[in-house]
Amino acid sequence: METNPIATVYLDDLYGLSSAKSEPRKLPEPDVHILTSDGLRIPAHSSILASVSPVFESIIERPRKNRSSERVIRILGVPRDAVVSFVRFLYSSRCEEEHLEKYGIHLLALSHVYLVPQLKQECRKDLGQRLTVENVVDVLQLARLCDAPDLYLKCMKLVSNHFKAVEATEGWKFLQDHDPWLELEILQFIDEAEKRKKRTRRHREAQCLYLQLSEAMECLEHICSEGCTSVGPYDVEPGKKSPCSKYSTCQGLQMLIKHFATCDKRVNGGCLRCKRMWQLLRLHSSICEQSDSCRVPLCRQFKLKMLQEKTKDDARWKLLVRKVVSAKTISSLSKRRREEEQREKLGLRGLRL
Ligand SMILES: [Zn+2]
Ligand SMILES: [Zn+2]
Ligand SMILES: [Zn+2]
Repeated sequence: METNPIATVYLDDLYGLSSAKSEPRKLPEPDVHILTSDGLRIPAHSSILASVSPVFESIIERPRKNRSSERVIRILGVPRDAVVSFVRFLYSSRCEEEHLEKYGIHLLALSHVYLVPQLKQECRKDLGQRLTVENVVDVLQLARLCDAPDLYLKCMKLVSNHFKAVEATEGWKFLQDHDPWLELEILQFIDEAEKRKKRTRRHREAQCLYLQLSEAMECLEHICSEGCTSVGPYDVEPGKKSPCSKYSTCQGLQMLIKHFATCDKRVNGGCLRCKRMWQLLRLHSSICEQSDSCRVPLCRQFKLKMLQEKTKDDARWKLLVRKVVSAKTISSLSKRRREEEQREKLGLRGLRL
């Protein structure tokens, strides 16, 4: 076999054999060479290449024009050391940390082109951990080309969160000149992300309002059935003089009830406070499951009215009622979970406290 001075340098440790403590694996004579851009010839074994990569397999099985001619596979456009790392991985299924760091981008491209999923997976993970404002645009382009959606998404998120800094990099300028479609894709992603954030904020604010309403409903029942500091059912003695400890809104709600009972203008007169009370009472009635025993004012009247005007009950109101009910369920579930966790902490599980 013709010996190539550069190739023999690599032959010793190329297949990951030199580091093995045990008896070195005896390999047959190399029957194929991999040629890099700068002319390095790496000896290799067609059977091994074919067994780890279906792309190599089909290259090797391709009929040759001249049977006696030496078999050469060209891997061009990638630094030679990246190709060496790649071949080493094909033999040993291992890639050193330092090579991943240096040639991660090239190894990802090679593993994608030659269909070596195990290496591709390692590169994706490693590149994802090494993302910076400086390299993110390059990695993003590659992730898109190499069909690596998880890495692509990670890059997009980083660009979106640090857009001002990314915009100042060379990578971004290059992208603007050479890949306007990707630029558009990124800008759209950022726009969507902004909208998502806004939607989440709006949802949280709405959730908070429904929860307040649901608490107001509980407080209203508390005042009308148990009675609290200054308002309560006629047949229940007024409670303690100190402020209510159960509901933070109790004092305010009692004032509202008192106002509602004595206001001259009332709802039709355009009093906003009365209108609010009216809506709270109507909401209670929509949620209340007690029939005759309920002590909240106007509960039965509203129910009757709803029965008569069933078709008129508009969709928005029904939606509001559903949201308040679900906010109530969620809050009582999380309250119960908190209580259970507390009990577990105290080691009092199974005791009714
Ligand atoms: Zn109270
Ligand atoms: Zn009023
Ligand atoms: Zn009721």
